[in-house]
Amino acid sequence: MDFRFNFFIDENENNKADTHDGMDSRLRSPKCSQESTEKSEQTAGPVAGSSPRPGTDKHGDETPSKKKLCFKAAKEHDIPEDLYKVLENKVMERASDLYYVNMSVVEMTCLDDADREGIVSQSVTSHSDLIPGVYEGGLKIWECTFDLIDFFSEAEIRFTNKSVLDLGCGAGLLGIVALKGKAGKVHFQDYNSTVIDEITLPNAVANCVDEGSWMGGGGDGKTHKPPSKRPKKAECSPDALTTCRFFSGEWSEVSQLLLSSNKPFSKYDIILTSETIYNPDYYGALHDTLAKLLDKHGRVYLASKAHYFGVGGGIHLFEKFVEERKVFKTSIVKIIDKGLQRYIMEMAFKDSS
Ligand code: SAM
Repeated sequence: MDFRFNFFIDENENNKADTHDGMDSRLRSPKCSQESTEKSEQTAGPVAGSSPRPGTDKHGDETPSKKKLCFKAAKEHDIPEDLYKVLENKVMERASDLYYVNMSVVEMTCLDDADREGIVSQSVTSHSDLIPGVYEGGLKIWECTFDLIDFFSEAEIRFTNKSVLDLGCGAGLLGIVALKGKAGKVHFQDYNSTVIDEITLPNAVANCVDEGSWMGGGGDGKTHKPPSKRPKKAECSPDALTTCRFFSGEWSEVSQLLLSSNKPFSKYDIILTSETIYNPDYYGALHDTLAKLLDKHGRVYLASKAHYFGVGGGIHLFEKFVEERKVFKTSIVKIIDKGLQRYIMEMAFKDSS
């Protein structure tokens, strides 16, 4: 499994390259691609004190929270009727009883044809796991995902009949765990539509149909046998997929789509989010999305590294941001103290029980 953590710095903006764990952590500043300007530009983030001109600090430089960002419009992705089609050309792997597509194979097949957003080619060419405003990292499984999965069992978090959102889902493993835990509904959101189509949806499907039926049986035979001796029966049935919805797009856009859609929408009991607070420029949009979509008695479980070198975000900065907004109370419920510290944070509305 690959946990590269590469960012690019705009050469004019900052020539310093932070390194962490021997990996390249350079950040390229937000920029618009054609795909990412499907919707008009908006400012994101909080208003951070007075400044000589809007969006600048006292030196006239853009403040992180007021940089103009280009946001992707929101879109709902239908689940194809032919579930095996979703698994076509995928190579499956398994960890902690979860199936997920091999990302390198997805990258190769996307480079051939399905890279409609151009994120695979851009990520490969720039050797970057993150191109802010263009590609936000969903082609990898990030390590805090597994921290959160471990936490669910340690803390005995129950998903039964709950409505759950996996926000910034990437591979969608958190949502899939909730689905296997008999959640009443699970929604998945990722910034990039390619991630939803090529990774999240196939992963959800692979975990909801019997292994034997897609291991060369149901599909075109191109899916590879996962490393197990006997085909396993899926803990979820394909019916569980009818409780799922899949969305791509920027957070504010997705929450607007959900709240204004004519499909009935009830707020989430649980919002799960892993490695989504690396960029302080997005804190305003993320905070407001959580505030709009969480049920008044709901909980957010957020997993993050202490600090994201090169991008500037991290758990303490986000905690401070949330405190200043006075909407949520936060508590750190687990610290993983191996190398760079990682954290699990619980959030609830200040006035909730
Ligand atoms: N949660 C996954 C994991 O732990 O493997 C993926 C983490 S990836 C580093 C960050 C994810 O946050 C991206 O997949 C993207 O979907 C989401 N994201 C980041 N910024 C976003 C934004 N401004 N709007 C919508 N989604 C965003």
